Amino acid sequence: MRWCPSSVLHLLRCVRLRPCIKRGRSRLPVWMRELWAYMSVVVQSLYFNSLTDSDVVFDSVFEPVFWTVDYVTRWFGTVFVCLVVILVSSIVLIAYIVLLPLVLNTYSPAWIVWHICYGHWNLVMIAFHYYKATKTSPGYPPTEKNDMPFVAVCKKCIMPKPARTHHCGICNRCILKMDHHCPWLNNCVGHFNQRYFFSFCLFMTLGCVYCVISGRNLFLDAYYRFKHLDTEKPGVPVTGMGVLIGLLPPGQTNYQTPAPPYTFRDRMIHKSIIYMWVLTSTVGVALGALTIWHAVLISRGETSIERHINSKERQRLAKRGRVYKNPYHYGRLNNWKVFLGVEKRSHWLTRVLLPSGHTPHGDGLTWDFLPVKKDLMPV
Ligand SMILES: [Zn+2]
Ligand SMILES: [Zn+2]
Repeated sequence: MRWCPSSVLHLLRCVRLRPCIKRGRSRLPVWMRELWAYMSVVVQSLYFNSLTDSDVVFDSVFEPVFWTVDYVTRWFGTVFVCLVVILVSSIVLIAYIVLLPLVLNTYSPAWIVWHICYGHWNLVMIAFHYYKATKTSPGYPPTEKNDMPFVAVCKKCIMPKPARTHHCGICNRCILKMDHHCPWLNNCVGHFNQRYFFSFCLFMTLGCVYCVISGRNLFLDAYYRFKHLDTEKPGVPVTGMGVLIGLLPPGQTNYQTPAPPYTFRDRMIHKSIIYMWVLTSTVGVALGALTIWHAVLISRGETSIERHINSKERQRLAKRGRVYKNPYHYGRLNNWKVFLGVEKRSHWLTRVLLPSGHTPHGDGLTWDFLPVKKDLMPV
């Protein structure tokens, strides 16, 4: 309870704190000692708490730092989303302006069909899952449902928390089955949008790998020529995996761009190819590692937060000679079926390999069900 200063002053006079101020023992004037006693009572009445410990003090002292970090992350979320859109759009533009004409002019019809079909399918999957991941609410606990089962009370929201729910300091609210707050989505990853987040990471990685492999020979050739633009030395033919991955027409093992002098258009094409290859290879490695990490977590039936909690719990029980069992682990394959929403075999095509807006199993509040059974898998 917070008291107003006038009530505290009134309390001071009522409990007669003045006699406690020892006259003569201090050289300070009486009015200063009265003021000091008044301030002491005010501070203690406002901040005294029998449950206060070092963690509370630490959190209170660093609250401005946490607030600043959360505020900056929240603000930069919009910048990061714009950055993702701009970078992906630039790669798509280069693919259409530089790579597509090359494919159409030099490839066999079968390779042309393959590149156009795969490239557009991958692009649609990236765009769809990114849009859904940013726009879909991760899921919040209801504020008025009194019969909701809960395992704890959030100290920030002062509201009951269902199992797997955690508080996000950036969103400033509790999130159902919270995984993490993603600044690249400017959204929390939780129960209702985790599949979109993972699918976006997966298809973005596949897209980067596709660009890296398809553009490898073009990159090597452009990089070599870009390095020797000033000396105007002729480029050497680059031999590589062109035939294998479909960059070059079958039977052609060497690729050589026109000899110098280069026009402005040639230079821009060289720079674009180098930019595309460096960006996609860098993002592909980083996002690929993140995707593999999340795939491991999904196989274990854990979120990123639960990974730390379960690890501590596993160590604690191991010291007592007991084995920790994750209650949300239904078996590796079943974990994937639950995560992807696969209830029958055709769903692997319609819900995984094609854009799908289906909702996940359950409401994110209760987890005491076995969502996937073997007899639920008709063809
Ligand atoms: Zn909360
Ligand atoms: Zn959040």
